[in-house]
Amino acid sequence: MDQNESHCSGPHTNSQRASGSELRIILVGKTGAGKSATGNSLLGKQAFESRLSAQPLTETCSEGRGSRAEREMVIIDTPGIFSEKDHSEALYKEVQRCYSLSAPGPHALLLVTQLGRYTAQDQQAVRRVQEIFGGDAMRHTIVLFTHKEDLSGGSLMDYIRDSDNKALRTLVAACGGRVCAFNNRATGSDGDDQVEELMGLTEGLMMERRGGHYTNRLYSLLQGSKSGSVGSEGKLKDFRENLIEYMEIERRRTTMPEANCLQRALIKTQPCILFCIRLYVKLLILLFCILYSMCNMFYSLLFSMCNLFCSLLCIILKKLIMIVRRTSVPECRSSRL
Ligand code: GDP
Ligand code: MG
Repeated sequence: MDQNESHCSGPHTNSQRASGSELRIILVGKTGAGKSATGNSLLGKQAFESRLSAQPLTETCSEGRGSRAEREMVIIDTPGIFSEKDHSEALYKEVQRCYSLSAPGPHALLLVTQLGRYTAQDQQAVRRVQEIFGGDAMRHTIVLFTHKEDLSGGSLMDYIRDSDNKALRTLVAACGGRVCAFNNRATGSDGDDQVEELMGLTEGLMMERRGGHYTNRLYSLLQGSKSGSVGSEGKLKDFRENLIEYMEIERRRTTMPEANCLQRALIKTQPCILFCIRLYVKLLILLFCILYSMCNMFYSLLFSMCNLFCSLLCIILKKLIMIVRRTSVPECRSSRL
């Protein structure tokens, strides 16, 4: 594939622009995937802190603004809220902040993952994205692969098609095949081209959704307030309660397919399990029979031994009585005399 060939793919990759003013994009994905770096590439400036670090650098949700081709862009960068951590107060606080910054709803969610490194952590991040924004959010998600330079000119679609990572292929399918690759270290026209390609993909997505942004029950709740932010103390509490309930419902929904998978696996292995159970029961019966016959043998042996012992005892007793009689008869005779 040619170096200049598009690394974005989806139902609409043209540069036709959908109408509207502000383009809101939320960057989601596991820590270290390159979210902040992607945000900087999109805005063409260092809006978010991004560098290799053992500890997460981004600590809170923040927005960066810029414009591209006469379109105002709002990029929302997120911290490590997509890991497997407990549902702590800090998590709800950040999610709440993310909702406020992206109200009335994002036009696209960019699921950032490193090329060639789609791991269990990434899968957990996808589950958490669905938990936070709802399962339908995948219909507004674009998978963005960082470290595009690792493709060495190869095609992203070929890479995905030939990948033996089933979870990755499932994710791409769930996102309607909307994928894109970025080299966040690219400069000059290479950097501009990849942003332009992503913009085309986002605009295509918007047209597909009839120009609308993503929304859900929580965004509707925010709509009530003027600025779209959570606002007063009472509203804040109300939103927090709704958020916890929403995430709980979505969490159950995302874990249901896994339970179904387990069910399906059980149905598939049912004949094998039944065969094993039958074999096990037969072995148990055989073992029981052997033990029973061994016990029987032991008891009959014991019984015959007792029998023998008793008859011996009887014989000895008889003999003794006879001896005693024999000795006692002459004594009687002599005493009479
Ligand atoms: P975040 O935790 O998801 O926000 O990740 P960061 O944006 O902080 O990126 C983590 C590291 O990956 C940083 O050192 C980035 O420079 C690096 N990085 C991100 N994207 C790319 C890329 O496309 N190519 C290369 N070579 N490095 C990248
Ligand atoms: Mg970051």
